[in-house]
Amino acid sequence: MYPMLKPALRRAWRGRNTVQFGVTPAHAVTLGPVDIATGSFLELLDGTRGLPLLHEEARALDLPERHVNLLLGRLAEAGLLDDPRSAGPGADALRRRVEVMDRQRPDVASLSVVRPDPGGSLRQMAARRAMRVQVRGAGRVGASIASVLSGAGVGQVEVLDGGRAEPWDVAPGGLPPASVGERRDVAARQLVRRSAPGPAPRRTGADGAGAGRTGTNGTGPERPGGGPATAGARAGADLAGSAGQPGLSLVVVAPRDGLAVYAPVVDTAGPWIASGTPHLYAGVIEATGLVGPLVLPGGTGCAGCLELHRADRDPQWPRMLAQWRSGRREAAPACDLALATAVAGLAAAHALAFLDGDLPASTGTRWEAALPLLDWRSEPIGPHPECSCGTAGGAGRERASGGVPAQDTMAG
Ligand SMILES: [Zn+2]
Repeated sequence: MYPMLKPALRRAWRGRNTVQFGVTPAHAVTLGPVDIATGSFLELLDGTRGLPLLHEEARALDLPERHVNLLLGRLAEAGLLDDPRSAGPGADALRRRVEVMDRQRPDVASLSVVRPDPGGSLRQMAARRAMRVQVRGAGRVGASIASVLSGAGVGQVEVLDGGRAEPWDVAPGGLPPASVGERRDVAARQLVRRSAPGPAPRRTGADGAGAGRTGTNGTGPERPGGGPATAGARAGADLAGSAGQPGLSLVVVAPRDGLAVYAPVVDTAGPWIASGTPHLYAGVIEATGLVGPLVLPGGTGCAGCLELHRADRDPQWPRMLAQWRSGRREAAPACDLALATAVAGLAAAHALAFLDGDLPASTGTRWEAALPLLDWRSEPIGPHPECSCGTAGGAGRERASGGVPAQDTMAG
């Protein structure tokens, strides 16, 4: 081991004998009391010295070996230590690709703040390379999400959409002006390739297999009730090594028509619910931006749950929804460029947090911000007892399958 204090966390003396690592409350840690000799020893933890050399230099500072071991243990426990040399085969492969590493240095540094274990940041970045994400929609929001995911190191980003790119699909982080008139899916594929920090990962071989294995060893929290989601992600990673084509780790639903995010079409989500594929909604409707919910099938409320809850609150909802869905729409729907960019960035960040093994705040929750005040608000999307996804538990399912029409339940 070559211990290194995580360089991403700024260090400052808080008073005479306490060191604070990190600025913001989310990740800042204090260590104390630290005497002058220990303070000098901390300066040696820059990843260039192995343990034997560290002990030797500690002796020169009159620091007993036990003290040094205790200190290293505390630093590691507090998530402050990185190890730039050891992180596993996937990380080693990544480290050898200098130009890719240079592009992703800030992202790896950010991961080092989030992941407590030494070498965890590089392991996580390597794991992203083995993941496969599908983005549905190549408009201002969808194309930007795909581009960011690709740039952030996700190995396979597919984009699905129909038709040809229109001038109003163009966005600074999305489809370029030159793509106007091209097939949207083809243009988005080129965008994804251009955004990637390096050539696409090989689909077989030690590189992908190593990354896949380490990817399942995340130290993030348990996904609550998300057995199927975890299993899905694991299946994806395992397949990367064996069949050469990983399963989908996540579907991002970012259609050009934001109505399909605000009121997702239940049938579209059916196959993802059935297969246990996690999916995240993101889009803009009129002047409102939406991120979430991230649906973990079997663990959180789904599109069907959302629709049933809405109809419970507003009996006229289904009638209006039918009109909105069948009505003629303007060629270019309202979509503020900055709002679309913010939604895309936030959605991509939520997607990455999930892919990295955490449960972002969009899990079972939708975040909304409306122009012009842009006050982000959240709305939990809980499981609905009548929904066929069955997440709400046995009682509701029995009632639903017992032939009680949903209309009766709504009225009663
Ligand atoms: Zn449901």
